[in-house]
Amino acid sequence: MPELPEVETTRRGLAPHLVGRRVVELVVRQPRLRWPVPAELVAGLRGQRIEGIERRAKYLLVHVEPGSALLHLGMSGSLRVLPAPTPVAAHDHVDWRLDSGHVLRYTDPRRFGSQLWQPRGEVHPLLAGLGPEPLSDAFDGDLLWARSRGRRAAVKLFLMDQAVVVGVGNIYASEALFAAGVHPKRAAGSISRARYARLADEVKRILAHAITRGGTTLRDFISPDGLPGYFEQELFVYGREGEPCRVCGTPIRAGVIGQRSTFHCPRCQR
Ligand SMILES: [Zn+2]
Repeated sequence: MPELPEVETTRRGLAPHLVGRRVVELVVRQPRLRWPVPAELVAGLRGQRIEGIERRAKYLLVHVEPGSALLHLGMSGSLRVLPAPTPVAAHDHVDWRLDSGHVLRYTDPRRFGSQLWQPRGEVHPLLAGLGPEPLSDAFDGDLLWARSRGRRAAVKLFLMDQAVVVGVGNIYASEALFAAGVHPKRAAGSISRARYARLADEVKRILAHAITRGGTTLRDFISPDGLPGYFEQELFVYGREGEPCRVCGTPIRAGVIGQRSTFHCPRCQR
């Protein structure tokens, strides 16, 4: 599933091909994505010049004068800029025909992604109530500390709560908790301000690093390759059950928190 770094990498890869271009028309071959592709999107984009592309949580917002297209990649979606004559394959559901002679093609075998419309001046319900961006100044240890008082939920669930902070998925939550030495099952409300400061710093460091990694593939963007974020050999705990901790050698333990697999070092994390 694409995580925040992959979505940010996608944004950076698409921007030079989209911004300033005019959308000639949309070709919707399969309107039944996670939600139906609305007629407002098709009408709102037609003939419009793209003013910018922004990311909020794991959504991409493509801005035009009347509003914004709200794009989500779901579990298996991808966006590629291709020469217009490129033959269409089975799961190529939506094409944006651009005045550059290219198409922005949305491909999604499982169809959990979405293409929606947000009129100018409105906030789409999917974006309302989201917490701050993890790489923004609004996100820090003081925010985590203040929001966690009185909460008995496991700190890992708290960190993955989109109302607290957006875009910290399972892999990045597991890795940040390891780097900060915090046990994933600890009650969120029992962790000190100083430890939350460390945890927030590790979340920022790990996500920024993953974005840099994704960025190394940018020059190959107009290709059907995937969008790698983190490399397996850089993971300290995620997916490493029974393997020795890279810091202390103790076997990594696996468990389940909130129906999601989780991994930790019983010695390094308290
Ligand atoms: Zn360890």
